Amino acid sequence: MSQPGFGFRVTHTSGGARCGIMTTAHGEVDTPAFMPVGTQGAVKGVTHRDLEGSGAQILLSNTYHLYLRPGDDLIARRGGLHRFIGWSKPILTDSGAYQVFSLAERRTISEEGAHFRSHLDGSAHLLTPEKATDIQAQLGSDIAMVLDECLAYPSTVDAARESMQRTLRWARRARTRLLELRDGPVAGVAVSNPAQAQFGIVQGGVYHELRQESADATVDIGFDAYAVGGLSVGEPIDLMYDLVGRTTPRLPPDRPRYLMGAGTPTDLVEAIARGIDLFDCVLPTRNARNGQLFTSAGRLNIKNARYAQDDRPPDPECGCYTCRTCSRAYLRHLYVAGEINAATLNTLHNLYFYLDTLRRIREAIVFGRFESFRLEFHQRASQS
Ligand SMILES: [Zn+2]
Repeated sequence: MSQPGFGFRVTHTSGGARCGIMTTAHGEVDTPAFMPVGTQGAVKGVTHRDLEGSGAQILLSNTYHLYLRPGDDLIARRGGLHRFIGWSKPILTDSGAYQVFSLAERRTISEEGAHFRSHLDGSAHLLTPEKATDIQAQLGSDIAMVLDECLAYPSTVDAARESMQRTLRWARRARTRLLELRDGPVAGVAVSNPAQAQFGIVQGGVYHELRQESADATVDIGFDAYAVGGLSVGEPIDLMYDLVGRTTPRLPPDRPRYLMGAGTPTDLVEAIARGIDLFDCVLPTRNARNGQLFTSAGRLNIKNARYAQDDRPPDPECGCYTCRTCSRAYLRHLYVAGEINAATLNTLHNLYFYLDTLRRIREAIVFGRFESFRLEFHQRASQS
């Protein structure tokens, strides 16, 4: 049964791509949607006002970071994450799994969960499927993710199977816990958002049969919606597209599908063509801080000396604040001088570019011309 307050409706399709509206307790999200990553409750370099101005309808925040600092208890006492950070639109929180696997020190995995030490102060922690569910209940995000095991790439088929099956057992425990929290008070856990939805995650490495088995079994558990995890981790790009394309048909068509951690603008277009509705990725924000801008003509490295006297905006076709007011020469100067504004202006542009690309994709789907959009997009992106 889907959580009241959470809903999804497909409004248009064009080939395999679909356009829809996802409803949460904090408002609607037009899909396909891109979620900017606000790791510690803020998207680095920009304010929430900037985010809204860029068209962001939903934010992703990281459970691992917020749990360690300032702590989910502190946030729950302040009324939950929305109130604490001053963002009234939808929020999705991850389970913390990815950061435990990529950031934490001395990590060991057992059936119970992930034992690790904080990258901040070395303190010992145990993240179980129940604990990850509790933390997200206290944060009060609109969408919570189950704790999954993030498999290293490459992995053998046996290691991938074992990991996928553990992720399934963890998913059942996480679902049981969420249903307990919905049923009534659980000692020590403050439910900040009673309408929180929970997504299951399909794993299985790069093995089609494992991904199929994972998809079928995860759907059997009965989540509000489903994500495809463990991709965009170094596997060949065509293999990722193929795995996505074979997974989405096994997921319920009346629920949103979320491809975790992807990707480049090209990845977004290709995943949407295969029926994905939700994305998150640090690329637009992280690359902005490193001086790399995504444009309609491909990527542009603003630190390059060739832009020192270039009076054009980063992307003449972009309508963002940065492109309307700044030249490449100015942005390069700010970057070289190490000005904070370089990160802000570059981030504003990259986020706007991602969000505007999604907006144009939704429009193309509504008018039934996604395939021609896709063709033109690839032709232009390959010019640079
Ligand atoms: Zn721009």
